[in-house]
Amino acid sequence: MEELIPKKKGRKRRKRRIFVRLMIWLILVFAMIGMITVVALIVYGISKLVPKASSEKTVNTSGSYDLPGVSIDDPQTSAATSGGSGTAASSATASASAISVSSSDEHLNIDLQLLTKNPYSRPGTTLSNVNAVVIHYTASPKGTAAENREYFEDLRIFKTTKASSHFIVGLDGEVVQCIPTREIAYASNNRNKDTVAIECCHEDETGKFNEKTLDSMKKLTAWLLVKFGLSADDGIIRHYDVSGKLCPKYFVEHEDEWKKFKDSVAEYVDEHRAALASDDYLTFTEFGRS
Ligand SMILES: [Zn+2]
Repeated sequence: MEELIPKKKGRKRRKRRIFVRLMIWLILVFAMIGMITVVALIVYGISKLVPKASSEKTVNTSGSYDLPGVSIDDPQTSAATSGGSGTAASSATASASAISVSSSDEHLNIDLQLLTKNPYSRPGTTLSNVNAVVIHYTASPKGTAAENREYFEDLRIFKTTKASSHFIVGLDGEVVQCIPTREIAYASNNRNKDTVAIECCHEDETGKFNEKTLDSMKKLTAWLLVKFGLSADDGIIRHYDVSGKLCPKYFVEHEDEWKKFKDSVAEYVDEHRAALASDDYLTFTEFGRS
């Protein structure tokens, strides 16, 4: 009997110790949950308060561009050489996603991302005569303008084929210029020598262009028609009309939509001819920066 008392006391102490430890653990766990919640709220609050990084600023450099002459290409060419080939190419992907797209009806921003001169995508051959604008589709669903531009740029390394385009119109309506219009692009077979090429991004296998892409395609084509004194009737053609290639797929399979696009360009030129010919129509960014 004498031994039972210390045993009971020992059990009680042990229980108390376990209880105290349990409490300490619980307090620690609650403190951790509390801290995580506070940190999460702070991070969420900051993300809400700080506006997303954007490069909406565009600078109007068109004063130095002589429209609708060909001297537009001079500053573009110098921009390419001053940018340095390697760095210019590598910064393309980072900046292209942030290109601002104007919603104004009488304005178009062109993002200059000129390719490095190379025999596979930018040979530097003079394009002295422009008789038509050729519309293409990228044939890569959801592919962005930046990705397509990167593909052209990388051809100088991989040398797998010869391909390029003067312009690429992206899924958000952004317009990326890869080659000055006084140089040829490798896009339209035997018409490379007298046409300007526009590659257009699309969402899916049908090749159908979304509204933003269509809007910029219309504006860019209209601007080129005015620049080179072409008519919408015979100044806009499909790659299909050159070589029979299924390009741009949607406009080959839907002749009515192709006609609708051409009509929309003609109408736009009629309504905005003065604006299209003015120095203010285009603004320029370079690799997404003004
Ligand atoms: Zn094509």
